Amino acid sequence: MQRSFDIVIVGAGAVGCAIARELSRYALTVAVLEKNIDVAGETSGRNSAVVHAGFNNKTGSLMARLCVRGNQGFEKVCRDLDIPYKKTGKLLVAFDGADMAALENIIRTGERNGCKGLRAVSRAEAQALAPNVGGVGGMLSPETAIFDPFTYCIALAENAAENGVQFYFEHEVTDIQSGPEGGFTVQAGGGTFSCRYLINSAGLYADRVAAMAGVDGYKLYPCRGEYYILDKIADQYLDIPVYPVPRPGIGGLGVHLTPTIDGNIIIGPSAEYIGERDDYGCTAKAMDKLFREARQLLPVLERRHIIGNYAGIRPKQAPPEEGGFRDFVIQEEPARPGLINLIGIESPGLTASVPIAEMVRDILAQHMDMKEKPDFIAQRRGILRFRDQTPERQAELIAQDPEYGEIVCRCQKVTRREIRQAIENPLGARSLSAVKYRAWATTGRCNGGYCLARIADMLVHEYGMDPAEITYREKGSEMFAGTVK
Ligand SMILES: Cc1cc2nc3c(=O)[nH]c(=O)nc-3n(C[C@H](O)[C@H](O)[C@H](O)COP(=O)(O)OP(=O)(O)OC[C@H]3O[C@@H](n4cnc5c(N)ncnc54)[C@H](O)[C@@H]3O)c2cc1C
Repeated sequence: MQRSFDIVIVGAGAVGCAIARELSRYALTVAVLEKNIDVAGETSGRNSAVVHAGFNNKTGSLMARLCVRGNQGFEKVCRDLDIPYKKTGKLLVAFDGADMAALENIIRTGERNGCKGLRAVSRAEAQALAPNVGGVGGMLSPETAIFDPFTYCIALAENAAENGVQFYFEHEVTDIQSGPEGGFTVQAGGGTFSCRYLINSAGLYADRVAAMAGVDGYKLYPCRGEYYILDKIADQYLDIPVYPVPRPGIGGLGVHLTPTIDGNIIIGPSAEYIGERDDYGCTAKAMDKLFREARQLLPVLERRHIIGNYAGIRPKQAPPEEGGFRDFVIQEEPARPGLINLIGIESPGLTASVPIAEMVRDILAQHMDMKEKPDFIAQRRGILRFRDQTPERQAELIAQDPEYGEIVCRCQKVTRREIRQAIENPLGARSLSAVKYRAWATTGRCNGGYCLARIADMLVHEYGMDPAEITYREKGSEMFAGTVK
């Protein structure tokens, strides 16, 4: 069966989801084709989760302009989507006179880019901001914030779906043909999709998708960043992201310590060019280096604080011998009218995702009549976090629904009611990781030792799933062989 849309978006990372939501404001038919089982399965779910201010990017670049704009609008987007956001500020730590001098340049660049409030701070002020952190002084960026990128992508996608966008998961785009009269025919997940405009926001694979659509010449180099996750010690040691002064050419921002919106601390990322685009393995070598560098910033750190690790991969346009950053490419291809490519969307791609979406909308508006829908639903309601409510409100909630009275994930204090809402999510994602990232169950110190079996039990006994079909993520990550009795 061939399905026909005005616009097809390839990829449901932060950028594809932000574009989907933006286009759902207009009277257009839009589909998102995603090869994974859920949103944020790749780079958008594997990063530092920081809303950058925009002082690290070259003045005049798309990266700088879209980051600053994204930073300014981020809080409102989070409010509209009912997701957590915290303006923590960020401290750049200087270890010597050379770092202090470099900070002067960073402040000047930031001011040219339109960042607000950047200023050098003395050692005493740096100590007041982050009492456990070393260094001789630093720079404060008051507009930097933290958020949860999974919830962000989920919320963008849910809101887009509520406004009519169709999401097709486990639909890998494998072939693209352009028609003689324009438009595209796309093969994905065993189905055929036709569209007038094709938006390639395939992240690490955007060069390959562009080539499928007949545009050769882009090449992406995967560059891995590994992280440690620390236990919930952020309250005790750190409530502001702490970064070293960046060194030119490393292709990242240096190993930093970032409190997460959930109260953990993450250490990372490393920066290592690798051969494969899906090699998310963490290596002992990189992890040792991370720990050493992190202790330079926060000497009180101990290995016993570590509860997990993960890696993300940057889709770099700059080859290893060049290093550093090349600017985002966001353009309709002159050789393939109707194809909008988004190439090399590395950091600060999360921060910039909404302005990127607006830029794509503006490109489309040059060709299409973009009529705003009068019934666009701008606000979304997320899952209420029981543990964040007052005792009085918690009592009311339990009286309304006894499932609020049963804690399923003990580490994160997630109730049965929240797990149910996560299972019944509007995008229809049914893997264990889909439940994890919606309810934040299984993410505590025991790594799901207690609650994972209970969630699986709900899926089997209340939602009729066969144990053998329960996956952690994509097909191939089946968790159980079947029942034993
Ligand atoms: C280590 C690290 C730290 C970072 N930290 C930050 C930060 O703190 N703040 C910030 O603003 N940015 C940060 N970034 C950058 C940010 O994560 C990315 O810019 C952003 O997530 C890119 O989103 P995307 O949607 O373009 O790509 P992705 O998230 O990679 O999404 C692309 C999607 O396309 C899908 N896809 C690919 N090929 C196909 C196909 N053939 N068919 C169907 N689907 C396909 C993939 O499965 C994927 O879901 C960081 C990145 C890294 C790696």
